[in-house]
Amino acid sequence: MALSTHDTHADILVAGAGAAGLSAALALAQAGFSVICVGHVDRRANGRTVALFEASLRFYKSLDIWRRFRGKTAAIEKIRMIDATGSRFPAPPASFAASEIGLAAFGENIENDVLVDGLAELAAAHPNLVLHEGMLDDIRFEPEAVSAALANGHRVSAKLVVAADGRGSLARTKAGISARSWTYPQVALTALLSHEKPHRQISTEFHTRSGPCTLVPLRPLPDRPHRSSLVWLMSADDAERRRALGLVALADEIERQTDRIAGRIEVEDSCGFFPMAGMSVSHLFRHRIALIGEAAHVFPPLAAQGLNLSLRDIAALVETVEDARALCLDIGGLEALAGYAKARRGDISLRTNGIDILNRSLLSNLLPIDVLRGAGFFAFSLIGPLRRAVMREGVLTHGTLPRLMQERERPRRTSSSRGPKPCDEANRPV
Ligand SMILES: Cc1cc2nc3c(=O)[nH]c(=O)nc-3n(C[C@H](O)[C@H](O)[C@H](O)COP(=O)(O)OP(=O)(O)OC[C@H]3O[C@@H](n4cnc5c(N)ncnc54)[C@H](O)[C@@H]3O)c2cc1C
Repeated sequence: MALSTHDTHADILVAGAGAAGLSAALALAQAGFSVICVGHVDRRANGRTVALFEASLRFYKSLDIWRRFRGKTAAIEKIRMIDATGSRFPAPPASFAASEIGLAAFGENIENDVLVDGLAELAAAHPNLVLHEGMLDDIRFEPEAVSAALANGHRVSAKLVVAADGRGSLARTKAGISARSWTYPQVALTALLSHEKPHRQISTEFHTRSGPCTLVPLRPLPDRPHRSSLVWLMSADDAERRRALGLVALADEIERQTDRIAGRIEVEDSCGFFPMAGMSVSHLFRHRIALIGEAAHVFPPLAAQGLNLSLRDIAALVETVEDARALCLDIGGLEALAGYAKARRGDISLRTNGIDILNRSLLSNLLPIDVLRGAGFFAFSLIGPLRRAVMREGVLTHGTLPRLMQERERPRRTSSSRGPKPCDEANRPV
């Protein structure tokens, strides 16, 4: 659907049309809210993929979205970690199998541009959703509504804005929510690779002094049966040097860094280079705004947590606003949104801090830190219950998962089977 008038009203305005914004828009539209999603859809291939774990797959499956991506993903059944720091106390190699926690796979890997493009197509076709591929110029918060000006002159008003407009979020700034940002001396090089040997559905992480260098299984193509994606964290100087290399020379360096476990490697075109940063925010909500995705948290792509965390934000937010509606509460009001922050704060802080510590422990040359890291990995490898708890935490997280991520057999509800659910008058607060 396209915006047809200059002034449009919806229940919810989603700012940002990246993977998080589009997923939120679809989930909220599916829940029966009228949604306008505004943002630039970036369909450029940049060698970047996302590994989506079990809870995220359940989320997309319950919304009946995942079948759109059938045949475009590769399963990750095992994760292998290899200490390549050169430390005097190296961590022993560790290998984790999804079968140990009763899963066929930890998750699936998909090209970021394929995911975003597919979500945008679904969003454009959804009857409760207007996708506007442009930018927001301004947002104003008023007692009864939030109103936004689009770059093309349209105005939109809504009861709630979901800020999914990335790390520099305009919506967050306009709401007066402060963010603390920091940088790491690293750049992530991303690339899609074809290689000689099969990956056997194993994702392999080499932990180097500049960060992990990870090969993640990627779907085969008719003429390229063995493919992986690469996320390689390195110093800014190394990234500059490698950016200038030809694809053959770059493939040689990747082969050496990955101990030639994949055999001969060919770099398919269009690599990406992403400077590493972190960010946390003072509040996850204010009157008429809730923050999700990289508008709410940023950290380096260690252990593939970013979008997985964002989808948990979205699943929790959908539950919050659905419950608020059933109780006849204002979905943009503080009373309704407080539950969202309560549900998300712990998970977000655990991932942001945990990844910060793991990343800095690799960058550090201090012997006691090497010893601690080695001992930690040793314990994870050998102590069964701890090992399984760590694996579960990575793909499902502790505590009760939001409804959209709970295990179920069939898609939960579709837009056709599930109309808007008005508030139940019996629940209206007096
Ligand atoms: C190298 C790398 C590898 C990664 N691997 C994984 C992985 O394996 N698994 C995983 O879970 N995560 C991974 N991540 C993290 C994941 O990719 C991000 O969390 C996710 O893409 C961020 O999505 P987002 O929608 O929150 O933000 P963004 O993708 O930044 O989207 C923000 C959107 O907001 C729009 N916007 C900005 N300003 C405005 C405005 N004024 N008006 C309207 N729109 C606006 C932008 O145009 C954009 O569309 C990885 C990240 C990197 C860098």
